[in-house]
Amino acid sequence: MEVTHIEHIGIAVENLEQSIAFYENVMGLKCYGIEEVQDQKVRTAFFKVGDTKIELLESTSPDGPIGKFVEKKGQGMHHIAFAVKNIEDSLKNAEEKGVKLIDTTPRNGAEGLSIGFLHPKSTNGVLTELCEDKNK
Ligand code: ZN
Repeated sequence: MEVTHIEHIGIAVENLEQSIAFYENVMGLKCYGIEEVQDQKVRTAFFKVGDTKIELLESTSPDGPIGKFVEKKGQGMHHIAFAVKNIEDSLKNAEEKGVKLIDTTPRNGAEGLSIGFLHPKSTNGVLTELCEDKNK
């Protein structure tokens, strides 16, 4: 696969508004978008940091992936997302190299990105997201 940069870092939070206040008031960043991804049962807030973004994730349901994560581990770092040139090939590539996939085919993420997750069992414990901006 061909990775171009770190697209974003995903952080699971209990309260989106409270967390936005930290990044705005303490870190001096500006939230430029809030979006609900119904598939994932999350509300997300985005901040630009150079070419990379911070993606805050608040669960909209206790049985969603972020809800379960926060219940088990508490809030904190959730995943790292790499921008790739071809999401389909990249997922196939990883699978051929023995990596366990959460998504064998890309699905829709926030900001209109096509995304797919690699299983943390195959990535030394780091939930890894690959994404491609098909609108570019
Ligand atoms: Zn993400």
